[in-house]
Amino acid sequence: MAKKAAIKIDKEKAGQTVKAVWPILKKTYPNAKCALDHKNPLQLLIATILSAQCTDVRVNIVTKTLFKKYKTAADWAKAPLEEIEQDIKSTGFYRNKAFNIKSACNKIVDEHNGKVPDNMEQLLELNGVGRKTANVLLGNAFDTPGIVCDTHVLRLSRRLALSANTHDAVKLEFDLMEIVPEKNWTLFSHLIVFHGRNICKARKPDCANCPIKNHCPAADNPKRW
Ligand code: SF4
Repeated sequence: MAKKAAIKIDKEKAGQTVKAVWPILKKTYPNAKCALDHKNPLQLLIATILSAQCTDVRVNIVTKTLFKKYKTAADWAKAPLEEIEQDIKSTGFYRNKAFNIKSACNKIVDEHNGKVPDNMEQLLELNGVGRKTANVLLGNAFDTPGIVCDTHVLRLSRRLALSANTHDAVKLEFDLMEIVPEKNWTLFSHLIVFHGRNICKARKPDCANCPIKNHCPAADNPKRW
């Protein structure tokens, strides 16, 4: 694998880059939003757990039927583990996911009156929930700003030189929290994910047609970044 360039991050410059790309990405992706279908916090929690190592498209196919069968946290909590495993099998890593879903829902029933908690601290106490999943919930189900550092956000933050910590999702999240205005955290994550899926792809970034190329230090040679 080609050696990646060592990146020196200038926080002020990174902040200016965020400021410059924000209106362009907003205009380019006016419909940027969470790609996981859900109607309530519980559905989003389940969908997010299922989305690990699985495409959002597949998760949406599976949850379409799943959410008709399991409507409440109690439904998941009382279902036999083996049954949940079979129901979610096609999303991969189904044993782990089934265990996490069932035990998270047990806790939600026992300690939160059947409602998904709406704060980072209590979300992190649920099995299968790390900061990434918690931020998905906060930003998309509870209207509380959250930066979600998925693979696209990691890669684009590196190419745009927003942080030196683009191999560590938690450190990156805290770096981005300093340079992205808090009210924009959730939408910023969606915009970057949309851009990563559509133009700044991992293997073949389309720099020639990239609307933010004038603000991107990797535009000349994205493979090095
Ligand atoms: S110029 Fe290239 S590397 Fe930079 S954001 Fe656009 S597609 Fe990605």
